Amino acid sequence: MGKPTGFLEFTRELPKKRDVQERVHDYREIELPYAEDDTQKQAARCMDCGIPFCHNGCPLGNIIPEFNDAVYEQNWEYAYEILASTNNFPEFTGRICPAPCEASCVLGINKPPVAIEFIEKSIIEAAFARGFVTPNKPAKPTGKKVAVVGSGPAGLAAAAQLTKAGHQVTVFERADQIGGLLRYGIPDFKLEKWVIDRRLAVMEAEGVIFKTNTNVGVDIKAGELLRNFDLVMLTGGSTVPRDLPIPGRDLKGVHFAMEFLSQQNKRVAERPVKVDHRGVPFAEGEIWATGKNVVVIGGGDTGSDCVGTSNRHGATSVTQIELLPMPPKERAESTPWPNWPMMLRTSTSHEEGCDRHWSINTKAFIGDENGHLKALRIVDLEWQSVDGRMKMVEVPGSERDIECELALLAAGFLNPQQEGLLNDLGVEYDERGNVKTINYQSTVHPKVFAAGDMRRGQSLVVWAISEGREAARAADEFLMGETQLEAKAQSMFATT
Ligand SMILES: Cc1cc2nc3c(=O)[nH]c(=O)nc-3n(C[C@H](O)[C@H](O)[C@H](O)COP(=O)(O)OP(=O)(O)OC[C@H]3O[C@@H](n4cnc5c(N)ncnc54)[C@H](O)[C@@H]3O)c2cc1C
Ligand code: SF4
Repeated sequence: MGKPTGFLEFTRELPKKRDVQERVHDYREIELPYAEDDTQKQAARCMDCGIPFCHNGCPLGNIIPEFNDAVYEQNWEYAYEILASTNNFPEFTGRICPAPCEASCVLGINKPPVAIEFIEKSIIEAAFARGFVTPNKPAKPTGKKVAVVGSGPAGLAAAAQLTKAGHQVTVFERADQIGGLLRYGIPDFKLEKWVIDRRLAVMEAEGVIFKTNTNVGVDIKAGELLRNFDLVMLTGGSTVPRDLPIPGRDLKGVHFAMEFLSQQNKRVAERPVKVDHRGVPFAEGEIWATGKNVVVIGGGDTGSDCVGTSNRHGATSVTQIELLPMPPKERAESTPWPNWPMMLRTSTSHEEGCDRHWSINTKAFIGDENGHLKALRIVDLEWQSVDGRMKMVEVPGSERDIECELALLAAGFLNPQQEGLLNDLGVEYDERGNVKTINYQSTVHPKVFAAGDMRRGQSLVVWAISEGREAARAADEFLMGETQLEAKAQSMFATT
């Protein structure tokens, strides 16, 4: 423990954000650069708990008290070594993770928790700046060839780990750039894309082969893949969006959130805005929120990203509606510490301007004579307990139309795309339509593994990295009969 009185002396402080009036005119990251002295103070707040709940709260099992201590001692190299032992990409999680570790930090019981995510970002940025992040070439090649299908955080983590184990890894991606949703889902104002490129350069130097514009199942058939590789790792994400099949759904101006978001990321990257992240041409061309009343349907992360992007386009108004009731402002009693708290979350995009409404259902999209969206018919909902279950009931007389020329559907994703590669491989699906596995191995094909949203369902970047690492361990063991890849919650640094 660096400073026993640290949590009494210092308050939680996060990096300052750029002014709203400035940042809504560009797509650069919102946080201002950190000072290493500030990180040291934040690390000093860690109490080095006997049972560090933060460590259990992190899906990667990050060894948080130890890296906090190393940061307090200003030993950045050791802090990086500890962090890199459990997390391949702290530069992603340090920017966009909702930080379940902080929700379970012991200090959070009666004070603001330790700023773990900020410390993580500081460590990795200090490590890159000081030249600690160098390619690690495997000592001994195994001669085994692995195909990773999909280049999101799960695929990249699996590729990094399998390369470390000595296998020759080829990552196939159907989009024109590597990164999955990091690249073409999450906006630049949350994650600038040079951060991905910097990591890809390290991975390439380690020996990972990246092949873009390659739709596996179409450009390379399932049989060919199985013949040419010793193992196939499926990390294609959860790509089928939940639709809203109500009257007027086919009007011009009603779009899935991902169409809107991926187009904007392409514009920022100065790439042609012709096809979506699946390579499917956009039916209605470019989607702009400029000068429109925008309604985002769905209250989650994707919806919030649509809010931030619409404001940057210069929308006339931005409204976000959600079926569920408004969560409590503080941690709900049903989710006590150290659980992930059910509570109202206000993102940086919401701070930039957005009307938020809860307990609202959309009944119809209303169009004009040219087939363009002009309004949304909505109704208020009341959630009533019926036989112990919550049921939504429409409030009589509350139906009304709200002006809207652009509606963005951000109601989540159902499952991976099954037609094509997955059906051709003949994999089994679980009850939610995701690839069914036992310890990441397909229940049908011994040499087919799966990880990330494709296996787990729509989730988080930190879970995708965790899944990629765990799946790589299982795959390495399958290929070699044993594995030296780190198990989750490595004991080397653990306090208990
Ligand atoms: C808009 C949005 C914002 C989000 N914001 C956050 C956030 O702030 N924080 C957070 O933690 N999580 C966030 N998430 C969730 C997070 O991005 C995902 O959980 C994570 O990216 C899943 O990683 P993955 O590797 O499993 O799949 P993905 O990132 O979806 O990557 C899968 C890749 O596989 C490719 N692919 C699929 N099939 C094939 C094929 N047959 N051949 C070749 N390539 C193929 C796809 O093109 C894609 O690039 C967000 C999600 C969205 C949609
Ligand atoms: S739970 Fe919080 S205070 Fe305790 S070790 Fe983890 S980060 Fe430090």
